[in-house]
Amino acid sequence: MLPPDGHVHTEWSWDAAAGSMERSCARAVALGLPSIAFTEHADFTAWVIDPEVRAKMRPRDSARLQPDGRFRPPPLDAAAYLACVRRCREMFPGLRILSGTELGEPHWHEEQVKGLLATGTFDRVLGSVHSLELAGTRVVDFLFDRAEPADLIRAYLAEVFRMAESAAPFAVLAHIDYPVRHWPERAGPFDPGPFEDEYRAVLAALARSGRALEANAAVPLSPVIMRWWHEAGGEALVFGSDAHDPSAIARRFADMTAAADAAGFHPGRHPHDFWHRRPVQ
Ligand SMILES: [Zn+2]
Ligand SMILES: [Zn+2]
Repeated sequence: MLPPDGHVHTEWSWDAAAGSMERSCARAVALGLPSIAFTEHADFTAWVIDPEVRAKMRPRDSARLQPDGRFRPPPLDAAAYLACVRRCREMFPGLRILSGTELGEPHWHEEQVKGLLATGTFDRVLGSVHSLELAGTRVVDFLFDRAEPADLIRAYLAEVFRMAESAAPFAVLAHIDYPVRHWPERAGPFDPGPFEDEYRAVLAALARSGRALEANAAVPLSPVIMRWWHEAGGEALVFGSDAHDPSAIARRFADMTAAADAAGFHPGRHPHDFWHRRPVQ
């Protein structure tokens, strides 16, 4: 049996035009998933879009640019979103449906995060770094064409470390490998090895905080990083498809669960539990 999908976007996320909560539930039931978490985006950072990046933006995204050149993702309509969760729970009583949100840089936006979480019950809160402060400006997509790839990975992990060390109210660290999605071909296949110290520092901070690590499926989390998580004392691992449309629910979960098992994690007592560490033999 596949584990729960702990990271799914629907029509309530600003970047999921093809999302659908109802069809995602139907898909989860068809796949036999015990549970699904709808972790809609709450991004509060106004990104500075580099003029060269702006020229290459998709029309859909460039339409959201403000006159000052910043990109402000629209807010999550929490009340309408949570009402949709309630409707889906009635329609799919056999599926355990968690409400949730994916907070972008929650350690930068304490007040806004507090305000959002006070508007309702969010069962699953993910913490994500989607943007970096480089040379005094906040940028997305990490400008791999403008800087050394290794420098950007280190800058990303340094920001994730600050988020993991913070008291920001998230329970699961999402996509520790997010910039790898944009890793340039010219740099060869991505290998976490050269960044071992930086990854281990983040994982140790996360373990100290009692939070869980996500194995995100967009780029399947490296089995090496899963093993480092176990060695750091990490207690829990959560699988997340990061689906932005129903067809991507639970993608690559069979491969990722096999890797997690080899790294020393196993399912909990209930099918909807996080996976937990096995003690070192
Ligand atoms: Zn994300
Ligand atoms: Zn996401």
